[in-house]
Amino acid sequence: TAVPSITLNNGVTIPQLGFGVYQVPPEQTKDAVLTAFEVGYRHIDTAEMYRNEAGVGEALKESGLSREDVFITSKLNNGYHRRDDALRAADESLAALGVEQMDLFLIHWPLPTIDVDYVETWKAMIEIHRAGKARAIGVSNFQVPHLRRLLDETEVVPAVNQIEVHPYLTNEQVRAFGAEHGIATEAWSPIAQGAVLGDPVLQRIAERLGRTTAQVTLRWHIQRGDIVFPKSVTRSRVEENFALFDFELSDEDMDAITGLNRDQRTGPDPDVFDYIP
Ligand code: NAD
Repeated sequence: TAVPSITLNNGVTIPQLGFGVYQVPPEQTKDAVLTAFEVGYRHIDTAEMYRNEAGVGEALKESGLSREDVFITSKLNNGYHRRDDALRAADESLAALGVEQMDLFLIHWPLPTIDVDYVETWKAMIEIHRAGKARAIGVSNFQVPHLRRLLDETEVVPAVNQIEVHPYLTNEQVRAFGAEHGIATEAWSPIAQGAVLGDPVLQRIAERLGRTTAQVTLRWHIQRGDIVFPKSVTRSRVEENFALFDFELSDEDMDAITGLNRDQRTGPDPDVFDYIP
């Protein structure tokens, strides 16, 4: 069964399910992405920070897939927020990926604590988009006040905001602000890097439906309308995580999963994260 597409606010379409490569070692990335392509994934989420854009590019080339049949996202690293650095970093991501255009390019973190204003960085992203280097641009880990400043001070609304979302951190306020302003939510660490998989509520639903807790959790994201890209280098899990479109969760199951929220982060808090690699 086919992966649905989401239409972003500038008309670009993105497959709702993709494959994430955070923590995939550079030397394993080509093979992992080739496996994902074989299974049927056509959307890859990488970042300069992951040091594996080149592996994604090699897989794309070796797969023989047409460029327009694969959606590729990369992200601007934290040290490159100044305009000139951002423009150069976009070119370097293109070179590493071996493509002329990214489908989506994101500011990886807002980094509010260093002395480059993320609004200035966003203006550089707008230039990158206008130069044709990315079909769409967006942000990642932006909180509501960060988004509000982009809306107030620039002409371009981010196409997406990629944030941590899973049953233990449902992140409703940031998602709702996005929905209200045409910013699609991408849910990172959709299974909380495995932390939700032993949850008894998820186990009960999974058992009843004859599915795994990973599939139930990913299906919950899909039915909420978020974009997801689980990561795994194990073929059986890569397949498992792709088999989400031949079953459905009831409203009651959806509510029970949403009710698991405990505002528990797996990753850093965007309001204080100022790491520069
Ligand atoms: P995830 O929630 O996708 O979990 C991945 C881990 O869960 C794997 O390492 C594996 O051990 C396990 N796993 C995966 N499938 C499984 C299955 N079916 N059964 C059992 N265990 C399974 O975590 P993630 O990799 O952090 O997030 C997914 C993607 O989101 C990343 O690869 C990256 O592309 C993106 N991401 C973005 C940011 C950001 O700041 N923008 C931060 C983190 C992740």
